[in-house]
Amino acid sequence: MPGFEVIDSQEKEIVNKIFDDGGILFAHGFDAARSNFHVREFEESFNDILKFNHSLAVSSGTAAIKIGLKALDVKAGDEVITQAFNFIATVEAILDLGAIPVIANIDNSLNMDVEDCESLITNKTKVILPVHMLGMTANMEAIMNLAAKHDLKVLEDCCEATGAKYQGKYVGSVADVGAFSFDFGKVITTGEGGMVTTDKVGIDKFSREYHDHGHENNPDFPRGRDTKTIFGFNYRMTEMQAAVGKVQLSKLQMILEMNKERYMSIEESLDKSFTRRQINQNSEPIFDTFIFQVKEKERRDEIINLLNKEKFGTKNLPDAIEWHCSFYWDHALSEKQIQRTEKSKDHLHTMIAIPIWLKRTPEDYLELVNKINKYIY
Ligand SMILES: *Cc1c(COP(=O)(O)O)cnc(C)c1O
Repeated sequence: MPGFEVIDSQEKEIVNKIFDDGGILFAHGFDAARSNFHVREFEESFNDILKFNHSLAVSSGTAAIKIGLKALDVKAGDEVITQAFNFIATVEAILDLGAIPVIANIDNSLNMDVEDCESLITNKTKVILPVHMLGMTANMEAIMNLAAKHDLKVLEDCCEATGAKYQGKYVGSVADVGAFSFDFGKVITTGEGGMVTTDKVGIDKFSREYHDHGHENNPDFPRGRDTKTIFGFNYRMTEMQAAVGKVQLSKLQMILEMNKERYMSIEESLDKSFTRRQINQNSEPIFDTFIFQVKEKERRDEIINLLNKEKFGTKNLPDAIEWHCSFYWDHALSEKQIQRTEKSKDHLHTMIAIPIWLKRTPEDYLELVNKINKYIY
């Protein structure tokens, strides 16, 4: 997830220009004084480039998930089904609304096992929340069919998959709502930041008002006398973040191409006896992590040591597995949810993730893989 690797003078200059132009850092009001509208322009570019109908810039990916769930009318006591390989943010957003997180196991794609998800549906279930983990899309057709059958809504967590496609559509436009993150570890970054995407006018309208204290931004009134019908919260993005976001977004295609080149260098040279993460049908991943399986612990540890020694690291499998596998979240989940996903934990522990770094060349990856290939039997 390398957006920070391509930060250069362009990001610096656009932020400096805000200050040269009078330093309006807020997205709303100050109409007479402002010459920059970076937040609104970042949203428009996100719509243009990724073909969304509505994009709302917010303060983080976690905020985007919470706003999206709230827009889908998730209330206290409702159940939301998400998955065992994940990030704690989804569970936090569910809990923050007083709702109940229910955890489905993962399949060989390391995304939601749709059959397991179906077995968890009850009359309290409101939303299914699949996560496109590490750049690869979930099995959305099966998930959308399941949701239609049970009259449920779907929120896609796209935080690790900006630019990924499913059946030719960018993720974030497949389900009812998409949630994106631009934190400092993500494909493109604004330091902290997020986006809520949807096709539905009602969801966009609610999200805009909710993320901005209920402001309707009624054009007939100055902001200080703006109209309101709901109370909300403050999950706004600043002009500085959005300015950086515009520049980063203009680099997205380049990042994706560079990712793919490096990823393919691994795919083509890694010995065929290593089992790869299964790529779901009709999925165009963002190729920012290469994941493969090594079941024998001793051999796996040796390869992990090699990756650390060569300064590639292993991202969250296993580097940060405690933050990415629900089995470790006994501070947030019930014992029942933890126990039922133990098999996902065991599965994830057989995996090794090679992060794709833009600063490492395809040849660096080739050299690395030649060393890994020595660990075949
Ligand atoms: C990063 C991430 C989030 C949260 O995004 P923040 O912007 O850090 O709040 C949510 N879900 C997944 C899968 C993530 O990787």
